[in-house]
Amino acid sequence: MSTEYSNDEVTVVWDKTKCIHAAKCVKGLPNVFKPKEKRWIQVEGASAQEIIDQVGKCPSGAITIK
Ligand code: SF4
Repeated sequence: MSTEYSNDEVTVVWDKTKCIHAAKCVKGLPNVFKPKEKRWIQVEGASAQEIIDQVGKCPSGAITIK
């Protein structure tokens, strides 16, 4: 099951079943990826380019850009 998080510029799709909770995203962009919060990906926390770059580093492919 995947969930989408978007703003005007970018949509991040998160596939819960692929996420290995390596927390690379959390360390890379802590203002966007907040696992303790209910809406855990907050796309307003960084620029679209920063988010796209960070998504590219996810080791499991759990997060993608739409
Ligand atoms: S980097 Fe990818 S696998 Fe790791 S916690 Fe973030 S979404 Fe999940």
